[in-house]
Amino acid sequence: MTTQSFSLTDRTQVKRNPGRAVYDREVIYEVLDEAMLGHLAVAIDGEPFVLLTIHTRIGDTLYLHGSNQNRLYRKIAEGAKACISITILNGLVLAHSGLHHSMNYRTVVLFANGEKVEDREEEWRVLEALVEQIVPGRWEDSRQPTLQKLNATMVIAFPINKASAKVRNGPPINTDADRELPIWAGVMPIKLCTQAPITDTAGQEVPVPDYVRDYEKLPTVSLP
Ligand SMILES: Cc1cc2nc3c(=O)[nH]c(=O)nc-3n(C[C@H](O)[C@H](O)[C@H](O)COP(=O)(O)OP(=O)(O)OC[C@H]3O[C@@H](n4cnc5c(N)ncnc54)[C@H](O)[C@@H]3O)c2cc1C
Repeated sequence: MTTQSFSLTDRTQVKRNPGRAVYDREVIYEVLDEAMLGHLAVAIDGEPFVLLTIHTRIGDTLYLHGSNQNRLYRKIAEGAKACISITILNGLVLAHSGLHHSMNYRTVVLFANGEKVEDREEEWRVLEALVEQIVPGRWEDSRQPTLQKLNATMVIAFPINKASAKVRNGPPINTDADRELPIWAGVMPIKLCTQAPITDTAGQEVPVPDYVRDYEKLPTVSLP
């Protein structure tokens, strides 16, 4: 049975600001499901490499995909250990002192040995989930991948069992003496948003679909 909280290991235990640590599976999964991108780190021949990547979660497994020529994925398929970090930024925290500035955020770090997905049905399910994670409703409405494209794609599965989250919320941390200074302090909230869709005029004339117009994952904001 899946446990509510991840057990701490030497690597996953947050040491700095441990009051911000969360090991709760629900909180960690919320971050994984909400975030649109993350960073995958792998050491190759003793040298660190970090790649930006999109991800999707199905149950207790996190999946990444890419070209089957991708160096990091190939190394993972050969047994290299991976570390994945995922961040949602919620605000800029402006303190009185320059060095007390911070950010409000929810982040997840997870360590895992990934495995190449060989099963075609699982691979297909993951590719669908990846598209649906970013734009719900899009998979059914888009052309399905060809066999040639599938053969050129690698899907990697990471069991989610060594993970931590760190969450910062709230105002700046100021000293009493700093609060006497005539300097503005506070939080500038940040939220990712979309703007009005821009139709590609090179294709057929097709009305903007509901799942684009009423995109639910993010608010749509009109900017000049
Ligand atoms: C947007 C943003 C900006 C940041 N900017 C800075 C910066 O400029 N300088 C800085 O020092 N720190 C920054 N941090 C915090 C940073 O992520 C680390 O938490 C912090 O630096 C402590 O590092 P450490 O190696 O001492 O962590 P330790 O506490 O020793 O890490 C031990 C273990 O705790 C877990 N862990 C640590 N940090 C996180 C995390 N953020 N999320 C989930 N699990 C975690 C990992 O499993 C890690 O292996 C930032 C965080 C965010 C989200």
